[in-house]
Amino acid sequence: MQTARPIIIIGAGPVGLCLALALGRAGVPVAVYEQDDALNSDIRASTFHPPTLEMLDEWGVLDAVIAQGFIVRELAYWERRTRQRVATFDYAAIANDTPFPYRVQCPQHILTRVLKPAVEQLPCASVHMGHRYLDHVDGDNGVSVTFETADGLKTVEGSFLCGADGSRSAVREKLQMPFEGMTYADRFLLIGTDYDFETIFPEFGAVNYIFDPEEWVIILRLPDLARVVFRLKDGEDESFAMSEDQLRQRMWRFIGEEVPFNIKTTQLYRVHQRVAASFRRSRVLLLGDAAHINNPAGGMGMNSGIHDAHALAAVLAQSWPQVAETQLDQWSDQRRSVARQNVSTYSDKNYKDMAAKDAEYRQQRNAELAATAADPEQARAYLLRAAMLADRI
Ligand SMILES: Cc1cc2nc3c(=O)[nH]c(=O)nc-3n(C[C@H](O)[C@H](O)[C@H](O)COP(=O)(O)OP(=O)(O)OC[C@H]3O[C@@H](n4cnc5c(N)ncnc54)[C@H](O)[C@@H]3O)c2cc1C
Repeated sequence: MQTARPIIIIGAGPVGLCLALALGRAGVPVAVYEQDDALNSDIRASTFHPPTLEMLDEWGVLDAVIAQGFIVRELAYWERRTRQRVATFDYAAIANDTPFPYRVQCPQHILTRVLKPAVEQLPCASVHMGHRYLDHVDGDNGVSVTFETADGLKTVEGSFLCGADGSRSAVREKLQMPFEGMTYADRFLLIGTDYDFETIFPEFGAVNYIFDPEEWVIILRLPDLARVVFRLKDGEDESFAMSEDQLRQRMWRFIGEEVPFNIKTTQLYRVHQRVAASFRRSRVLLLGDAAHINNPAGGMGMNSGIHDAHALAAVLAQSWPQVAETQLDQWSDQRRSVARQNVSTYSDKNYKDMAAKDAEYRQQRNAELAATAADPEQARAYLLRAAMLADRI
């Protein structure tokens, strides 16, 4: 395949913008088209794992992200009922495996605000807001893509079309690409608060998974608030659960007393585990949430999408404007296999562990986690998986 027309990316989310930055820095012409007039500012992913930090560093944007977030060197598991730490993993165990043996907590809307100007500074890259992808024609020599804009319909020509347009991807729909998997019965209820959890969990860290057979909790600290994620059980009424009174009751049950706290933000969302049947069809490629979505336990969704972008940019840029079809197929197969075998399996196990009900299983889980964390070699192996370093391809 030979072509010199720009690569068209749909979606200015973290994945689309990372792909644009990687391609633009390699001198490959690229144009991003985003349906909204402004970048998304919802509370979504906030964890950056070490391989992602390596990629952001390579692209020259890591310092700006760290400056607006913070470094976390421990991962902690707790029991809700006893308020005891089950295990603490110290990222020092992977100090020889990566130049960044830690994770960074920083909201994804900060990342996109760092990426967009970095892309726009590149002479061969551009970002077009207010362009909603509608349709495309995949021809022998390139793609022709139609957008809806405030000025009417617009068609642009490109060499490849990269669908980084999120979990409801219109590009994936247009391809009629199956998105196989399942939706969890539980929903996730997020409360952003300024409450200081150290008052109930002594030596509380920044990343905490709190086991409970009835209502597990995940608490992640961000620069300006703590994100508390509760399980909303199948059958619980959404509007009742989201009323201010019920949000306070839920927090007070967890804290153990009726203390004052501010609710800064709330969110309720469904969680899915799905992977597209292929990440490539001819000149159209799918990546990020458009290609795979998983349970957020473990913070792997956005990270694995950025890893898709890093690997795809390497294939497209390698001998641009020549691009080998076999390498594109290999990229699709490898990234799909990572999404299915590593990300989905690991995230699902994390999730099931948090909610495990059987007393014997829970005891064994806690004993195994504590023993793993205490043994440097086992702790390293555990963290290589949790930090996504084992996914490298
Ligand atoms: C409520 C919520 C909470 C989450 N929490 C976590 C978490 O705690 N940890 C974690 O790891 N992950 C989490 N995720 C997942 C994480 O946010 C995603 O993995 C990540 O955003 C994927 O990035 P992306 O660029 O592929 O897609 P997105 O961030 O969804 O970006 C897609 C972009 O494409 C644009 N777009 C869509 N359709 C079109 C169109 N037709 N034309 C042009 N543009 C279009 C959208 O406007 C958007 O800007 C969460 C997701 C949600 C929804």
